[in-house]
Amino acid sequence: MNNKYSRQLLFWPEGESSQKKLSEKIVTIIGIGALGTALANHLVRAGVGEVRLVDRDFVEESNLQRQMLFDEKDAANHLPKVVAAENKLSTINSSVKIKPYIEDLNASNIEDIVEGSHLILDGTDNMSTRFLINDVSIKLEIPWIYGGVVHSRGMTTTIIPNITPCFRCLFPDVETGHAETCDSVGVLSTVVHVIASYQVTEALKLLIEDRTFIREEMIQLDVWKNDFELFPFQLSLNEDCSCCQKKDFKFLSDVNTQLVSSLCGRNAIQITPMASKEIVFNDFYKKWAKLGKVKQTPYLLRLTYEGYQLSLFKNARLLVQGTADQKIAKRLYSTLVGE
Ligand SMILES: [Zn+2]
Repeated sequence: MNNKYSRQLLFWPEGESSQKKLSEKIVTIIGIGALGTALANHLVRAGVGEVRLVDRDFVEESNLQRQMLFDEKDAANHLPKVVAAENKLSTINSSVKIKPYIEDLNASNIEDIVEGSHLILDGTDNMSTRFLINDVSIKLEIPWIYGGVVHSRGMTTTIIPNITPCFRCLFPDVETGHAETCDSVGVLSTVVHVIASYQVTEALKLLIEDRTFIREEMIQLDVWKNDFELFPFQLSLNEDCSCCQKKDFKFLSDVNTQLVSSLCGRNAIQITPMASKEIVFNDFYKKWAKLGKVKQTPYLLRLTYEGYQLSLFKNARLLVQGTADQKIAKRLYSTLVGE
């Protein structure tokens, strides 16, 4: 018996055959923060074939309270989260193929990233990315598992194209602006692991192709107040749903030339060019060194300029920390990176 997975093989309904199915599957995890690191940790240990890790951010000290694959060294080195996660995961189970994507997931790149995946797991912290995941899931017929945590509360449900309702059935009005976020009300690290565990359990059922006990309800729970509720998700099916019924993929068709987004609660703006572009760090290092203190890592260039902290990634994405004003960020982009 395969020693690495011996306890799991005893559990699987079809032993080695279930494990083989798992080892042939590709899972894309979107967002490698609190939920994403827990999801990746479980799946890599379980022996899935390939995990794709997608995240735009680098590790910061405030992440360490709940993002289990990172440590103080990763934060000090400003390592991109997907790189720090890959480093750790490859020491946990070297049989699993790990593909890191240091990307801001958007309409122009999501189809390429998830193509060929058997499942998408939600580790994000915002509704607009979830609507984008939902569009691509319905379009490419890839199931996805929603998970959300804030404060001591969590929610999760499994969305299977052509079988269950979709995320737009559940949230037909796209209201993304007023939700509470981890940045405004905080998050308890334990609720993250409860929700991630439910997500991975459902994921394993799908990946070993045993849907006997697939959960048809949405879970909503509060670990602090001891609430646990199951909602019949099937009842949410909207026969007029613009996404799963009418196949109008609104979020996938939203392709701009430049994507400017405010990072909620972080006093930061991010600018992502939609056309693919490659930055040569050495060239920029020379230019930027005349303007202020520059630090170069294999993944990003950091510059302190006019009191702002700027991080430039290889794909020409710029993160401006120290302002919530998009005009300032755009000006800095055109001055320092170009059009
Ligand atoms: Zn729908």
